[in-house]
Amino acid sequence: MKRLIFTLCVILVLSIPVVDLSGARAAYLVIIDAGHGGQDSGAVGFRGSYEKNIVLQVAKIVRLRSFSMPEIEILLTRTDDNFIELTGRTDIANERNADLYVSIHANAHNDSRAEGIETWIAERIAGEKREESLALANALQASMIQFMQPDKDRGVKSQRLYLRHAEMPSALVELGFLTNPDEEISLSQLNYQLRAADAILQGINNYFYQR
Ligand SMILES: [Zn+2]
Repeated sequence: MKRLIFTLCVILVLSIPVVDLSGARAAYLVIIDAGHGGQDSGAVGFRGSYEKNIVLQVAKIVRLRSFSMPEIEILLTRTDDNFIELTGRTDIANERNADLYVSIHANAHNDSRAEGIETWIAERIAGEKREESLALANALQASMIQFMQPDKDRGVKSQRLYLRHAEMPSALVELGFLTNPDEEISLSQLNYQLRAADAILQGINNYFYQR
């Protein structure tokens, strides 16, 4: 019963549009991007769940949970099911002069056995931006492995990504494979989404404070 009430409360809170309740500027501003949206559903799960919905849910929970860390302000690139161009997403971070940019995704693969959690940084970035993005990605990946305990740690990798347009350190997390039936079930569960959100928040906190 307690669990049911908790779940209902979380659903209720998530259905409220996100508003900025904080008056003072926090020490750090972090942009959290829920991947895809609108006509772009992203990955489609084994049982038909949409990546765009799951990652939006996790992004909203990250923001809600961040209220317990007043030194870190979280802003979302989208709070509902709308589509934003890729560079439009990093533009939001650049215009606000954010300290970090983190994009949330769920994976897909032709092989339904593909599984696990991974974090990406952009190729073709260099110097301090690359070093800091790598440190951020390592902090996020370590935290996700600790909190979410996937069967497979796929590590931190780099590829050509629009994230290179972000002027600040950036990373992209893949929370699991929607094309894997077991992982799709996990990703669809509120309990797992809460753990994912807490992992992302803790990873960000560790990047800022534990180095
Ligand atoms: Zn995606």
